[in-house]
Amino acid sequence: MTEPKAISELVRKNILELKPYSSARDDYSGSASVFLDANENPYNGPFNRYPDPQQTLLKQRIAGLKGLAMENIFLGNGSDEGIDILFRVLCEPGRDNVITVDPTYGMYAVCAEINGVERRSVLLNSDFSLEPDAVLAAVDEHTKLIFLCSPNNPTSNSLDHESVLKIIDGVNCMVMVDEAYIDFSQGPGFLSLLQEKPNLVLLQTLSKAWGLAGIRLGMLFAHSDLVGYISRVKYPYNINQLTIDAALRGLDDTARRRLWIKEILEERSNMAIQLESLPFVNEVYPSDANFLLIKVEDPSALYQFLMNKGIIIRDRSSVPLCGGCLRITIGSKEENRALINALKTFQQ
Ligand SMILES: *Cc1c(COP(=O)(O)O)cnc(C)c1O
Repeated sequence: MTEPKAISELVRKNILELKPYSSARDDYSGSASVFLDANENPYNGPFNRYPDPQQTLLKQRIAGLKGLAMENIFLGNGSDEGIDILFRVLCEPGRDNVITVDPTYGMYAVCAEINGVERRSVLLNSDFSLEPDAVLAAVDEHTKLIFLCSPNNPTSNSLDHESVLKIIDGVNCMVMVDEAYIDFSQGPGFLSLLQEKPNLVLLQTLSKAWGLAGIRLGMLFAHSDLVGYISRVKYPYNINQLTIDAALRGLDDTARRRLWIKEILEERSNMAIQLESLPFVNEVYPSDANFLLIKVEDPSALYQFLMNKGIIIRDRSSVPLCGGCLRITIGSKEENRALINALKTFQQ
């Protein structure tokens, strides 16, 4: 087992030395009734006030829900902010590198590009399983971050737990596991390992199982030192009041979420059976997420056909290892029926 570096050794020098912006609401803590410190308009409450820069209430709720300390939580404007901010905190442009295991979520590559950071791509096996030794072989002394996604988008499978552990234990850099789809998965994920693995970063989101993609709330869970550096870099008021309010309301209704997940998983099984029975579908890959990846004879013809019927799916056929593949989100019963009915009229 490789001993991970202290987080301060992985953080960029300019970030270590950064004196963060201090907002009016950071300077003051306590109880007061007259706020004349932030040049706000006194009218039009509650939205006249700047939101809490630390999102304390929301973090407390999420901490309780996830069994974490607030110090282990960063909240971002979607998972995308969490991904981008890891580059900005850890990776020196032109010197450091990151590793992605492809095919996977496109934002890791886009953020690497934007931040001027080299990205090393390691392929999954052809059955979409993870090859830990191939990932370890791509690591060098300038590797700061490895991106894993489990369940993975667009391949829909979870990565083997032992293989992920082998990577976490085999490197001295950070390993991010994107668990956007964890609520649809059979496996437990990696949350319970966060305390004992200081180089593990987890990403979860309210965009999928919680049904709140519109409010943009991503959750990053990591060692408190890393969360501390990230918090210095983030925009002071990165989570707005409307999002905080809607998230608190949404998180209250765990029963509703459980019902949604149950329905989506049932529909996923039904859809897999129906899709498999279509003559032009060559494969329906096993899914641990809220979507199915299928392999068909002529993906672009099928994509066009469905689009003409007002049904939009995702053509992933140009992605490495995904030749012939289309990605289909599990919708409501009615939406899924509309898709299957349309597919039944498709002539090759
Ligand atoms: C959908 C998805 C997300 C969610 O991103 P948000 O910015 O939180 O909406 C994150 N990671 C992966 C792999 C996804 O597919």
